[in-house]
Amino acid sequence: MKIYDISLTLSESIPTWRADPKPQFRKTLSLEKGEVANVSHMSLCVHAGTHVDAPCHFLKGGSTVETLPLEILVGKAVVIEAMEADRLTQEVFEKASIPPDTERLLVKTGNSKEWEKGATEFIEDYVGVSADGAKYLVEKGIKLIGVDYLSVAPLDEIVPTHETLLKGEVVIIEGLNLSKIEPGTYTLYCLPLKIAGSDGAPARVILTSE
Ligand SMILES: [Zn+2]
Repeated sequence: MKIYDISLTLSESIPTWRADPKPQFRKTLSLEKGEVANVSHMSLCVHAGTHVDAPCHFLKGGSTVETLPLEILVGKAVVIEAMEADRLTQEVFEKASIPPDTERLLVKTGNSKEWEKGATEFIEDYVGVSADGAKYLVEKGIKLIGVDYLSVAPLDEIVPTHETLLKGEVVIIEGLNLSKIEPGTYTLYCLPLKIAGSDGAPARVILTSE
């Protein structure tokens, strides 16, 4: 079995969403200072790095991250490539000829080049799913969408895309690094931190293939 790690490495230099503070790691005990162990505290946005969005991120009264179904977060997933697209519209998805029984879909775009080159700053012109693309995914029966930038939606369609996907009970994974992944079928394992009442949670995400 081959294992592909498609998670971003959390660090103090990783790009974060617009004005969100960067993750911070602070040693509260240090061997170098003669203390008994190394112990660190971290502070970070729940939408930092590779993470999932919960319905309550955009929907009043929506469910929270620790209740996302593991049955959806783990299972067969299809990776498609849309390297030329500047927006993931219905048309782009139609041309990608997604297999009809697909429930989990990961989309590799030009965004993954940012992770490949070790970017440290947020970019505004990333590729995201348009509102009509989101509607198409819900109608097609997609249960999980994974994207390779920090939001599933472009800046000017943030609300309609998130609302459509979350109302359609589609689980959203953001901040995947798909730069080393070829299109095809894999098994996805996405395990978000179990944070009570949260609108999002960092996750370790891997793909495996036989
Ligand atoms: Zn998010």
